Amino acid sequence: MSKLIDDFGRHIEYVRLAVTDRCNLRCQYCMPAHGIPIVPKRELLTFKEMYRLIRVLTELGVQKVRLTGGEPFVRKDFVGFLEMLSYNDLLEAINITTNGALISHHISKIEQLEKVKNINLSIDSLNREKFAKITRRDVFPEVYKTFELLEKSSLNLKLNVVVQSGFNTNEIVDFVRLTKDKNVAVRFIEEMPFNGKGQRKMEENWTLKKILNEIKTEFDVSEIESEKSSTSRNYAIENHIGTIGIIPAFTRTICNDCNRIRITSTGTFKNCLFDDGVFNLRDFIRKGASNDDLKALFLSLVKEKPKNGFIAEANRKAGSVSESMSTIGG
Ligand code: SAM
Ligand code: SF4
Repeated sequence: MSKLIDDFGRHIEYVRLAVTDRCNLRCQYCMPAHGIPIVPKRELLTFKEMYRLIRVLTELGVQKVRLTGGEPFVRKDFVGFLEMLSYNDLLEAINITTNGALISHHISKIEQLEKVKNINLSIDSLNREKFAKITRRDVFPEVYKTFELLEKSSLNLKLNVVVQSGFNTNEIVDFVRLTKDKNVAVRFIEEMPFNGKGQRKMEENWTLKKILNEIKTEFDVSEIESEKSSTSRNYAIENHIGTIGIIPAFTRTICNDCNRIRITSTGTFKNCLFDDGVFNLRDFIRKGASNDDLKALFLSLVKEKPKNGFIAEANRKAGSVSESMSTIGG
């Protein structure tokens, strides 16, 4: 069976699929206060189209899918889609990234779905007012409730914290403290300029090195071995149940082992977060492409995967990165 292998020998085993471009929050580092123009519904992939794309990809060696957005739970019957995807016997794991504001009542159902293993919950502050400033919505109590329910659930929980100069850098150690008694992986993400047209100016770049130095002001950390294709560098702290990680999303030191491709909610295939879209899969399948056509297409598309995110960015036709993460599927 043919497998997806790029020109640098990287095996593609993970697809990140944005199930919608819509979102109930307006995080300042992701989109402007008034949101971004949403695409008409007919331009979004249907769940059936998504199922089919994932099925074909798993026949080419993809083992894991991460469902993201926008906010995945904003899409009607997203939980039904999780069930539908679970029928794909070639898929090992279905992971989800969510802001957690709409999901507390879905958790027990999700726990029953064997393939759904990991949930990444985005939470950038532990302070209600600050959280509201960052997300421009006052939903901290609900998100925190989700956090507590997920922590007690059978799902593996990771917290995503985008480190934002001038907002939450003074909370880095508070987040690390959470790992003392909670079985959670807290991952700090370098902020990237994907904010839907430069609404937010980063005052200072909080790089992996800077974040790590901040953590070391209070904690002794030791690096732990991570899976080769891990997006984060991970650390343990003595006597802490949980772990911490840092995602060098902007400094891009993890590209050598990248095993990922992306599909946006409108069906654009992306080889890299920083490229500007390589192919419109939606139009291809709506024009009648067969599964064999799709396979041949995927096999050739991944050959164009750039060596790293800097090269992908330099090759962009659409100018510098400014699109919202909610349209790319972060
Ligand atoms: N709405 C869901 C959420 O917030 O978890 C899923 C989509 S969101 C685009 C996925 C992840 O991308 C979140 O953890 C979010 O914090 C992160 N993100 C969005 N914009 C970002 C940016 N400009 N820089 C770094 N991370 C960003
Ligand atoms: Fe919505 Fe997630 Fe973007 Fe925040 S980061 S605006 S929750 S898509």
